[in-house]
Amino acid sequence: MTNQTIPVTQPFLPELSEFVPYLEQIWDNRWLTNNGPFHQELEAKLAEYLGVEHVSLFNNATIALITALQAMRIHGEVITTPYSFVATTHSIMWNGLEPVFVDIDPTTFNIDPAKIEAAITPRTTAIMPVHCYSNPCDVEAIQKIADNYGLKVIYDAAHAFGVNYKGDSLLKWGDLSILSFHATKVFNTFEGGAVISPNAKTKQRIDCLKNFGIVDELTVTAPGINGKMSEINAAFGLVQLKHINIALRKRQVIDTQYRLSLADVKGITLYEQRDFSNSNYSYFPILVEDDYPLSRDDLYEKLKSNNILSRRYFYPLISNMPMYRCLPSAGIANLPQANALADKVICLPIYSDLTDEELSMIIQCISDVNLR
Ligand SMILES: *Cc1c(COP(=O)(O)O)cnc(C)c1O
Repeated sequence: MTNQTIPVTQPFLPELSEFVPYLEQIWDNRWLTNNGPFHQELEAKLAEYLGVEHVSLFNNATIALITALQAMRIHGEVITTPYSFVATTHSIMWNGLEPVFVDIDPTTFNIDPAKIEAAITPRTTAIMPVHCYSNPCDVEAIQKIADNYGLKVIYDAAHAFGVNYKGDSLLKWGDLSILSFHATKVFNTFEGGAVISPNAKTKQRIDCLKNFGIVDELTVTAPGINGKMSEINAAFGLVQLKHINIALRKRQVIDTQYRLSLADVKGITLYEQRDFSNSNYSYFPILVEDDYPLSRDDLYEKLKSNNILSRRYFYPLISNMPMYRCLPSAGIANLPQANALADKVICLPIYSDLTDEELSMIIQCISDVNLR
């Protein structure tokens, strides 16, 4: 037994010595931000790694989401999912737009395309779905609806680093996709994010908006923001990228062991990745059903008293938060699946340095209650 706390996630960090030469280079050339050499290199290397053409780095995904909506000139209402991190809906509000919540599909945890049409009004201009826990949305159905109604699709792909859909990058779907490189994500630059654009013209617009809307020395054409990634963050991303495949493989091993050990625990439902895509093992959500001996919150507390920090993620639902619950679409009756899921879910610790011993402790803690 160890008394050390097991966190729900832990950032992967390479040896510090590997990072130092990058810092020395920054000190040498004194280019700290504004599309510096490491920034350019990371954009190119990420495009190659992710199998996309146009990457715009950002200081975080929230600013990237806000800028993406601005770049697409979205107005009126935006259809989105309540089952996400608050930044998804916040980005809509920061553009002065109205979020409209649509319920999720209980098998994918993503926005249910079958329920989108009923939420469309003459004021709807966009859909902002989330690829929850790296599981792809039903991108084909969503695109069909968007095409029929002339809507833009902006994916919050914060969880979807390196995920493919039917053999090609998932990030190619929709008008734009946004990645997060926050410390808690599988690929991190301490803080960071990116917008994936389908063409050079769109990338140019995004790059302009993330730099105050500056076109050239004398021309500012839009009320852009400061969304630039610094050279330090970009350099760290380059170091991380060298290790990402190993880090993902380690997560995969943990994911497999969880699945083998928890599959037969009565009252625990596992979350299945869709067949035609690959997971990045960013989260390990389990659902605590009624026939499990403990309630979800009791299991959460039990894990905590054993120094295991799980996370009720996503709970509470965005639509139940004080600033959103008054919206017409936020009622519990409109979002039964999302509400049910938020009450059942726990994300278990998963990160590349999680040891076998720690993993066994977690599994033991969850399966033990069934023996009594
Ligand atoms: C992490 C996350 C964000 C926000 O990313 P930041 O880089 O922290 O701004 C947005 N949406 C989802 C779904 C996330 O998980």
